[in-house]
Amino acid sequence: MKCNCGVEAIRDGVCFKCEYWIELAEVIALGKPTDTRQFCVDSGKIYTLEPEWLDETSRGSLGAGFIIIWKNGDQTITHNLWPIGEVPEWLREKFSSNCSITPL
Ligand SMILES: [Zn+2]
Repeated sequence: MKCNCGVEAIRDGVCFKCEYWIELAEVIALGKPTDTRQFCVDSGKIYTLEPEWLDETSRGSLGAGFIIIWKNGDQTITHNLWPIGEVPEWLREKFSSNCSITPL
C-alpha cells in the first residue's frame, strides 16, 4: 500500500515521513507540555524559532537574519531560525500559516 505522497506506507496507509508530519501538526495545533518549541509556519514550510543568545557556531540557518511577521502583526527579528522542512502537498491543510518569513 502506498501513502498519498507516493512512498510505501508503513502503517495506516501512511509512510514514515508523512506520519512525522501528521504528529507534528497535532503538536503545533494542540501544543504539548513536553514540546515547548516555538513553531513558525509559512506556506507549508516549518521552522522553529530558538533564542538569540546561543553562540554563533550553533545557530540555525547558519546565523542568517530573518524577520518574522506574525499573523497578529507582531514582528520578530531572529538569527537563530531552524528549518524543519516542507510539508508534503497532501498534508498542507493541516498547517495553517502563522507568519511570513523574509530574509533580512
Ligand atoms: Zn507519505
